[in-house]
Amino acid sequence: MSYELWVNGKEKNMQAVPTEFDSPTYLDVLSQLDNAAEWICLDRNIWNRLRLPQRALCVSMPIKMDSGDVYVFQGFRVQHDSSLGPTKGGVRYHPGVNLGEVAALAMNMTLKCSLVGLPYGGAKGGIRCNPKDLSKKELQRLTRRYTTEIYPLIGPDHDIPAPDVGTNYEVMAWIMDTYSQQRGYAVPGVVTGKPICIGGSLGREEATGRGVVYITLEVLKHLGIKAEESTAIVQGFGNVGSVAARFLTSSNIKVTGLSDSTCGIYNNNGLDIADVTSYKKARHTLEGYPNGEMIDNKTLLESECTILIPAALSGQITEENAGRLNCKVIIEGANSPTTKEADGILNERGIFVVPDILANSGGVIVSYFEWVQDLQKYFWKEKEINERLHEIITTAFDKALKFSVSENIPMRKASMVSAIKRLADAHLARGLYP
Ligand code: NAD
Repeated sequence: MSYELWVNGKEKNMQAVPTEFDSPTYLDVLSQLDNAAEWICLDRNIWNRLRLPQRALCVSMPIKMDSGDVYVFQGFRVQHDSSLGPTKGGVRYHPGVNLGEVAALAMNMTLKCSLVGLPYGGAKGGIRCNPKDLSKKELQRLTRRYTTEIYPLIGPDHDIPAPDVGTNYEVMAWIMDTYSQQRGYAVPGVVTGKPICIGGSLGREEATGRGVVYITLEVLKHLGIKAEESTAIVQGFGNVGSVAARFLTSSNIKVTGLSDSTCGIYNNNGLDIADVTSYKKARHTLEGYPNGEMIDNKTLLESECTILIPAALSGQITEENAGRLNCKVIIEGANSPTTKEADGILNERGIFVVPDILANSGGVIVSYFEWVQDLQKYFWKEKEINERLHEIITTAFDKALKFSVSENIPMRKASMVSAIKRLADAHLARGLYP
């Protein structure tokens, strides 16, 4: 914040969105933060601080392609707030990645870690690229160069990346190796979501989808709806969506619709998730799947179901389609899938929405377990991991639900308020430096 702006009026400053971070996702996350901060009369100085990231790094990476040409890729790493501990957040490889989106997702991570009680602040990273267009060798060179560029910012005590859209355990292994080569010894705690053989955790790959289903079952219990009488539609069939679909089915919830970036599939009698998974694995698309009807993504979102799980990208539920959604419950598996305007419409319509910072927190919770195991060099059994995940995520849900009911506010606001209160306490306790 400039001194001039501060002197000339805080109110004006509260409205300002620095052009560097201006993006639809940043504005949406900011409006959720402002909404909750205003409601609890948050200290204005802390509020202003939380509206901006602590650090943001933009990098340019010349990469030799298999053809011999050199392409320059752009990458980012943003650390939003480190008052609660080292920062933590995924790395996204997608053509739509930009500084504003990465900053918004970093802010979301701060709120998520605070809400579920982890000793972390939030961060996020990304490279603007289409990983599907890159060979494995190109992807590895790009990842290693990106790791080298962000090397000064990351480390087990500093900032710990993890998988997100377009990245996986293999990319995490390359990040871990590149960082370790620079240090001269193995540093498994620098990333989470890596392969088990180099210090990954059992249960991490499934954690986000598993957490989404733990939350879904709690919501059904709260609303008095039986699992076996429910249907679900899942948008996105990647890490989060495919695992969520599998656990929904094993919890007796019929999954009638699924989609990926190419198309949607629908079957009123329920889709066989194992069959869909092997089809997708073989063809890398849901298109042409024989045991369901082809449906476009837009129609799929608006089809009738009990539970809708957006598990793809941000900004999928908008002012345009929120009025036509035909579900009772939305569990936000993706980050920022609902725009600010859509959120208002969903609240008016009485649709029960579990916000991203709670619904998809299973990933960062088990990432935390992975980091703790790496630091202790002592590894836990999968049963222990799943039980601890269940305990943390359902406790956070119960707390937010009780607060939401007692104050008569939506779950999003209740979750945001809890997250912001813990952050504000940390800022006030640590004081202002220098
Ligand atoms: P992923 O890359 O494994 O999968 C993304 C899926 O979305 C793919 O199936 C892709 O085809 C699909 N998709 C893309 N555009 C689409 C569209 N327009 N319509 C329908 N489907 C579309 O990514 P992921 O790790 O599963 O992440 C999904 C979401 O969950 C993201 O918002 C991510 O930030 C969030 N998230 C992920 C984790 C994690 O542990 N992986 C944790 C918390 C939150």
